[in-house]
Formats: sequence, C-alpha cells, structure tokens
Amino acid sequence: PEPTPLMPALTGSFSSPAGDNPTGAMVEAAYAHHGMLARYVNCDVPPGALEAAVRGAGAMGWIGFNLSLPHKQTVIPLLDRLAPSAELIGAVNCVVSGPDGLTGHNTDGQGFVEALRERVDPRGRRFTVLGAGGAARAICVEIALAGAASVTVVNRTLDRAEEVARVVREHTSTEAAARAWQGAYAVDAGTEVVVNATSIGLVPADGSRVAVVPETITAGMLVCDVIPNPPDTSFLREARERGAETLDGRAMLVNQAAVNVRLWTGLDPDRAVMHAALDAAIDETSS
Ligand code: NDP
Repeated sequence: PEPTPLMPALTGSFSSPAGDNPTGAMVEAAYAHHGMLARYVNCDVPPGALEAAVRGAGAMGWIGFNLSLPHKQTVIPLLDRLAPSAELIGAVNCVVSGPDGLTGHNTDGQGFVEALRERVDPRGRRFTVLGAGGAARAICVEIALAGAASVTVVNRTLDRAEEVARVVREHTSTEAAARAWQGAYAVDAGTEVVVNATSIGLVPADGSRVAVVPETITAGMLVCDVIPNPPDTSFLREARERGAETLDGRAMLVNQAAVNVRLWTGLDPDRAVMHAALDAAIDETSS
C-alpha cells in the first residue's frame, strides 16, 4: 500500500548491541526534512533472532532495513539475491524489499566512495588501505569498481590482506598488493590516498596506534579514517601536522546512510541535514 501519515513506510536496523547506532538519527532527519512518509526503527536483534526479525519485517511490509554487527554475513542466506558489489565484499549492510524479494547491498564502501568524491575522484588514483576487515574490504572493492589505479592492502594478519587483494585483482582492473603490518608501516611514495580502515582509534584510551612512519605521510596526500567517533582521531591530526589533507569517518557514515535512503525510496537526501543529525547523536553518546 502507498504510505500515508497514519501508515508510513517502515525501515530500520537489526544489530546487537544497537544502542549507539546513529544511522537511525540521520535517516529520520532526512525523512523529516524531505517530508517523507517513512520511519526508521533501530532494533536490538540478538544473533539467534535474525531470521525471525527478517520474516517479521516481511510480514509488516518494511521497504528495507540495515544490518550491523553481528548480522552482516549471516543475513545472506535469508536473501533472494545480492547486488554485484555485495557479492564481492561478502557482506550485506542494507536490504531492499521489492516485488521480486529481498536484495542485499553493501553501502559502507559506496558511502566511502561518495564521501571521497566530494574531495577527489578515485579514478586513476593510488591507494593504501590499512586493515583488511569488513570495512577495509568494502572500501577496497568499491574504490576498485570506481576505477582506482592501485590499492596496497596492509594488515597485521597478512592472510586477510592477501584475500582482499585477490578479490580486487580477480574481479576488477585495479592493481592490488598485500603487505604485512609489522611495526611502523612506510607508506609508498606514490600513494595519493591513505585510509585507516582498522578499528584502531575507536577507543582512544586503549593505547593502540595506527603505526605508520610519520615521514611517509606527505603534503598532497589525502588521509582518511573510518572511525566516526571521535571524528578527529590522532591518526588524522598527525597527518595534518605533516601537511596532508584529511577526511574523517563521519563522511563515510553519512554517505552510507544517504545511499540507504536512496535505495529504499529513490530520493537522494540532503547530506548536510544528515551530517547535523549525526553530530547531535555523537554529542549525545559522548556526553
Ligand atoms: P573488523 O573486525 O572486520 O576488522 C578490524 C580490522 O582492524 C582488521 O584489519 C584488524 O586486523 C585491524 N586491527 C584491529 N586492531 C588492531 C591493532 N591493534 N593493530 C593492527 N590492526 C588492528 O572490523 P570492521 O572492518 O567491521 O570495522 C573497522 C572499523 O570501521 C570499526 O571501528 C568500525 O566502527 C568502522 N566502520 C566505520 C564505518 C563508517 O561508515 N564510518 C562503516 C563500517 C565500519 P587483523 O585482521 O590483523 O585482526
């Protein structure tokens, strides 16, 4: 049925824990700003309850939903098909419900690329990506699909970096190499964009650092971080001290939420409104 004020279109998120997830605040701000008859409900769904939650969303006619930890891979067998990039990434964070069933997308890497495009066109650029977990894999696949010239994947556990580099090499025309991360990593001089896609910096007090040889970060590089909170990580501050430009993790988060809204409703929402809602949500969780 067409949404009405008394029966809005329904979207939301399934994750656990869910309490600090700011995507709902951004999406609801976009819905309100554009006068859309839609709502977003942030749900704490424990691991064993995902299938029931997905069926429930279907029964209630939800138009789509997000998945976050721990459901990004376990949701896949519950879907009817995957978008090509979600297939390569092997994880789904956004599901669209249509007449032909449930389609799984991965909007994390797409959010990163849309944020990046506000600063540089990834086409033809040389990247170094630190990390080889879910966020790194999504970023590597999407920058490659966006035409990056090369990506060097650097990870403490070399096997995971090799796997990401293999996927990029086998499925895109981007050159990809894996490097082990032991001690401080010296970024290749030809690198134009450096991305911290590890979880280091998420908990500033835990003492771990993004170990990079400081002199290898140079003016003219764009240095990015996936950590949205706190947004100004020590990795980014140190990069600015070296003269580099920086892009913080809020941009990726805002843009993945904007891509979700576009996939569900067809509307390309106002990023500034969503960014303001994210900042307010971060202030709330930090205070
Ligand atoms: P994963 O657990 O899948 O991967 C974590 C990565 O960090 C691995 O590469 C891991 O290396 C590395 N790592 C963790 N601790 C250390 C350390 N002490 N030294 C060196 N490497 C380390 O996590 P995700 O990829 O899902 O998430 C990573 C971060 O990205 C999280 O902080 C998450 O909040 C953020 N994120 C941000 C998004 C945004 O929109 N801004 C979207 C999605 C995620 P190893 O393989 O060796 O263990």
